[in-house]
Amino acid sequence: MEKNYYVCTGCGMLCDDIEVEAEKNIVNKVYTACRVGVAHMKEGTDNAVFRVGDKPVDEATAVSEAVAILKNAKNPLIFGLGTSSNEAQKLAIELAKKTSATLDDPSSFRLGSLVEALLQNRFKTCTLDDVRNKADVTIYWGTNPSDSHPRHLSKHSYFPRGKEKQRGWEEERTAIAIDVRKSHTAKICGNYFFEIPPGGDAEFIDALIAALSGKLPKTSYNFPPKRILELANILKGAKFGVVFVGLGLVYSLENLEPLFRLMDALNEKANFHLIPMVGYSNTRGFNENLFEETGYVNSVKFEDGAVKHGPEYSIVESLKAKTVDAALIIGYDPFSSLPRSIAKNLLEIPVISLNPFETLTSRNAKVYINTAVGGVESGGTATRMDGVKVDFKPVVETKRLSDEAVLKKIMEAL
Ligand code: SF4
Repeated sequence: MEKNYYVCTGCGMLCDDIEVEAEKNIVNKVYTACRVGVAHMKEGTDNAVFRVGDKPVDEATAVSEAVAILKNAKNPLIFGLGTSSNEAQKLAIELAKKTSATLDDPSSFRLGSLVEALLQNRFKTCTLDDVRNKADVTIYWGTNPSDSHPRHLSKHSYFPRGKEKQRGWEEERTAIAIDVRKSHTAKICGNYFFEIPPGGDAEFIDALIAALSGKLPKTSYNFPPKRILELANILKGAKFGVVFVGLGLVYSLENLEPLFRLMDALNEKANFHLIPMVGYSNTRGFNENLFEETGYVNSVKFEDGAVKHGPEYSIVESLKAKTVDAALIIGYDPFSSLPRSIAKNLLEIPVISLNPFETLTSRNAKVYINTAVGGVESGGTATRMDGVKVDFKPVVETKRLSDEAVLKKIMEAL
C-alpha cells in the first residue's frame, strides 16, 4: 500500500517523511517526527477567532478593519512571515509595495546576514541530502540542533547511512561542536567538543586558520594549542566537510569577515560547505523571496516604486525610532521576543495580528485574525534551511483561513 507522507513545518528542517493517523479531523498519532514535530502536527483546531479590540467579530469585519488600518497608515510595518508559505510571503511583498510599507522579518536580528552572504554566493553551500550522502566531517558551531532541530543529526548530518557513507557515524563521520557550553549536541561529539569563552569565536577562528597553515595557534584565553592543531588536522583531511552555523557564532562576531576567511582557509586545504541553522519553517523562503524581488533579505522600505534598505528599516530600529504608524504582524509575537522597551512602542500604534495562536501580541492587537497552522491545516510551498523547495499539504480541515487567504482578501479590498 502506498504510504501518505506529510511535511512537518515544526522547524527549518521541513522533514518530509511524516505519517499521521487522523480521525474525525483530529490527529491522534504522528510517526517519524521528533517530539517538537509530534506536538506541532497535533496543533490543528477547528475554531476560528476574529476580534476587533476586545470584541469577537466575523471574518468580513476583521478583514475590513485590517484594511482600514493599512489604508490610514503612512508607513505601516509588515513583519514576521517565518512560518508562512512562499505564496503568502510573495503576497506580503506585494502588499508592502502597495501600502509603501516597511517590511522585515526576524532574520534581521538572527541569521539574515549569513543567508544574504550565501545568496550572494560568498560561501560554498550544499543540501542536507548531500550531507547525508557524502559528509565525513561536520562542525556545529554556536548551534545545538539536538534541541533546536531534533532530527538534524539522525536524519541528515551524523547518524544516518548515506549513499557514500554506508558505514555511518561509527567509522565514517566525525562530528565536532564548538560552543560556549556543553550542549546536548556537544555531548554527542564527545572528545571533539571545543569549549570556548563567550565572545571568543573570532579569536578561535584566527587560531584555527593559523593552525591550518601549520603555524602555532594562540588565543588570549589560552586554549590548548595542541587541541587546535589536532582539530586543524581533522579538518584538512575532510573530503566533504560542512559547517553548520548558528546564532551563537553570528552573535559573537562583529561581522562575517572572520567566517569568510575561515571558509576560504578550509577550502584551500579541503572541501567545506556552510549551512545556516535557520530556525523557523520558512525564514529561508522569506529571505530568498525578498532577495529575488529587491536584492535584500530583510529590512526594506518600499516608496514611490523604489526600495530602500538598511538597519533603520528593521523592526527593532523602526519601533525604537517610532517611524512606523501601524503594524501587520504575521505569525510572530514581538511582545514575547523583543525587549520590552522596544515592543511597548507597538502599544502606541494599531496592530493587526495574524496568528494561529493567541499570543501577547494578538491580545494587544486592534485586529486579531486566527489563521490556519501551515502544514497542518493549510498547504503551500516552503524553502528548507538548505534552500530546497518543499511542497506541503494540510493534514486536517479547518474553518480558519491561511495567511495566504487573508492576505489575498486584504489585497483585494485595498
Ligand atoms: S526536526 Fe523539525 S521538521 Fe523534523 S520532525 Fe522535528 S520539528 Fe518537524
